[in-house]
Amino acid sequence: MRKTDPFKLLKLIYTCGPLSRTDLAQRAGIAPSYVSAIVFQARANGLILEQGFVPSSGGRRRILLGMNPGLAKLIGIDIGRWHIGIVVTDFVGKILDYESLPSETSKGKDHLLHVVHDSLKRLLAQHPAVRAIGISSSGVIDQQAGKVLFWPQVSGWEGIPLKEIFEEKYTLPVVVDDTVHALATMEQRFGHGKDMRNFIFISIGVGIGSAIFVDGHLYTGRDGLAGELGHVTVEENGKLCSCGNRGCLELYSSASAIIRRVREELQLGVTSSLTDAVGGNLDQLSVEKIAAAAQAHDRLSERVLSEAGRYLGVALASVVNLLNPERIVLQGKVPQAAQELLLGSLLYNLRHRALAQSIKGMDVVVSQFGEEKAAVGAVFTAGEEVLQTRCREMEGKLSPSTEGLSLAQDADGKEANLQSSET
Ligand SMILES: [Zn+2]
Repeated sequence: MRKTDPFKLLKLIYTCGPLSRTDLAQRAGIAPSYVSAIVFQARANGLILEQGFVPSSGGRRRILLGMNPGLAKLIGIDIGRWHIGIVVTDFVGKILDYESLPSETSKGKDHLLHVVHDSLKRLLAQHPAVRAIGISSSGVIDQQAGKVLFWPQVSGWEGIPLKEIFEEKYTLPVVVDDTVHALATMEQRFGHGKDMRNFIFISIGVGIGSAIFVDGHLYTGRDGLAGELGHVTVEENGKLCSCGNRGCLELYSSASAIIRRVREELQLGVTSSLTDAVGGNLDQLSVEKIAAAAQAHDRLSERVLSEAGRYLGVALASVVNLLNPERIVLQGKVPQAAQELLLGSLLYNLRHRALAQSIKGMDVVVSQFGEEKAAVGAVFTAGEEVLQTRCREMEGKLSPSTEGLSLAQDADGKEANLQSSET
């Protein structure tokens, strides 16, 4: 069997743990002896801990291995359209401190940065053991460069090198990703994506974004831009989108699109219970109010939401034919508020358009997580950075290589002959 580098193996524990040595060997496709050697070193270096046993109805009990929560404290920051969430967590995402601030995006780049720095300084003073910062931002993100490529909501935000700015100021490693990936990470670890190898996570809020998990890993594409589902064309000659294209999905199925559509119709004089629900003030329109009206059979609300679902179904049929996922997870205000109506027309269109074999056995579910979870999701990308550094340090201490370690050296000697005893 192949060998692997310790980081890849420990990342499995970080992402999918706690796991037994047998699980690890199977998932990584490497020799159990090599797993035991790395586990021995990782425990000696305080990276992982034993966390009980695999539930079993008899036979030998298998020890579960999990990440050491005390390995480092981490900070996660999510910069969204309305709020900035900042959390301090232990290494496995347990929240130790939390601040939520208005992002006031209309005040521009400098104000937004000032708000984040202010809160960050305060939290770092209280938690000196923080070892890395994970930032997630709305918009289109170049993850490798740690830059925001495109987010028209904040003037001056385009091209902003967040990684560089925060690393220089705080001399800590900083990882930048987009909010959708941060939310998808939470779903994979704690939600409907747990134990799924191939699933699509779709966030439908102000905009629409997605995260694609292939064989247990987030697929990011060449520049980390994979998953921009909101900018997939669903109407060839449709409305002009902020990205420059016409007829993007985001213009038909996002929360902003649904509100805009209802507003336009009300302004044209269409009769709806929403006029009373917002007291005649169309600025008070929200997806929640539209969903509530639809549930009480308001014709306009029903029509607009079902149309949003139809376009989503059209886009998702292509996604399903391309990727053949096990599950689609919908997250965000739109599916959470308007679940029944949206899913009804979405599934109808999906079933009619996708290959029957592709959707067989696949399900579409709605996430329990709100946007506030993104800051916690951002913590894990920062955690991986810390883990990678600690693995390199660990490897530096090994001589000449982990290959030289014999099974007898495993502190957990009783599990040494693990291949025959555990499987
Ligand atoms: Zn677009």
